[in-house]
Amino acid sequence: MKTAKQFLAETDPEIDSACTGEWRRQEEGIELIASENVVHPAVLAAAGSVLTNKYAEGYPYARYYGGCEVADIAEDLARDRAKRLFGCEHVNVQPHAGSQANMAVYLSALQPGDTILAMDLSHGGHLTHGSAVNFSGRLFNFVHYGVRKEDGRIDMDEVEKKALEHKPRMIVCGASAYPREIDAEAFRKAADKVGALLMFDIAHIAGLVAAKLHKDPVPWCDFVTTTTHKTLRGPRGGMVMCRAEYAKALDKAIFPGIQGGPLMHIIAAKAVAFKLALEPSFRDYQKQILVNAKALADALMGYGFDLVSKGTDNHMMLIDLRNKGLTGKVMEFALNEAGLTVNKNTVPFDTEKPTVTSGIRLGTPAVTTRGFREPEMKRIAAWIDRISKDPGNESLRGAIKVEVKELCSKFPLYADLA
Ligand SMILES: *Cc1c(COP(=O)(O)O)cnc(C)c1O
Repeated sequence: MKTAKQFLAETDPEIDSACTGEWRRQEEGIELIASENVVHPAVLAAAGSVLTNKYAEGYPYARYYGGCEVADIAEDLARDRAKRLFGCEHVNVQPHAGSQANMAVYLSALQPGDTILAMDLSHGGHLTHGSAVNFSGRLFNFVHYGVRKEDGRIDMDEVEKKALEHKPRMIVCGASAYPREIDAEAFRKAADKVGALLMFDIAHIAGLVAAKLHKDPVPWCDFVTTTTHKTLRGPRGGMVMCRAEYAKALDKAIFPGIQGGPLMHIIAAKAVAFKLALEPSFRDYQKQILVNAKALADALMGYGFDLVSKGTDNHMMLIDLRNKGLTGKVMEFALNEAGLTVNKNTVPFDTEKPTVTSGIRLGTPAVTTRGFREPEMKRIAAWIDRISKDPGNESLRGAIKVEVKELCSKFPLYADLA
């Protein structure tokens, strides 16, 4: 008898070593990418299960393949738990990723060429919110709102003005790099002024929403889309919630509209993640994400870092590095060399190219999962400060990497996993 891991090592040592190397990288480094997290071993087990072998085109009890009786149970569990978690009328757990969730909503409710009002990518929106290089921007007529220059916050007056001017069929709210709470009720008001549908893409904040730490957007929205792998801490995937009246059209848009067979192993892993998210401890985890984000933001501002909007209401923060004379590209590289993983990110009204950027984005979901609390946030801020003063200094980066590794060894990710 051998474990799956032993089979991998024997069959494909190169990929086995890539997997082991990635495990070590995650164990020994500090993960500050705001869209990443660390899943429970039970989620890993479901994602690595034999359900990957199964074709289950269609939906529970209405499949196009035989042998789906167990797949039906898994998908039903995922749907029921998602409904309990978010209090939505209908859910589809089949989207392979967040991008497919958004694509399904657009194609179910709109016609190509229709106008959609969404947040500008360079102000914190997502590629699927109308970027010219994305399917969304190629198929639909996107117009964009942004944040105010003065305070880095969404300007609801601008949203309303743009809605009245362009008469969109749909308004999209939600973002990938916006550190403040988004007011679904205010977006509903803007949408109602022009009879537009409202979609909230909660990909980043789904965990905070599930834990009721951000105001519940579900009652205000026609559609709510999300990923399952960010603050929600599930497997890599997507999901769409909607009002009952849109259920049929949405399900058809996902299958057979844009996808074939669902990833049943991932749907099972989503069900496990939702079960964990329904436990009271998940709310404590989400609360700590917020406490840690605030502690990290405060400590960074104490070192003179310029945070977009001067702080955070959620799990992430955006640092505008221009007052330090640095670019996102330089800091991303220097921090990575020191064992701290972040991503370079445009800041609103950025003066650098997207491949360079003036900012970095940091988030606390992954470090909170591994058990970091306020004292560790202070250490992270101090390391970021030291590196920002001398990003090209290899020996400084090497010395910090040793300290980072030492701290991480006290907070193992998968201590109990054989
Ligand atoms: C991450 C993200 C997505 C897309 O998710 P993928 O799973 O990478 O396709 C969509 N919308 C927003 C706002 C996101 O942050």
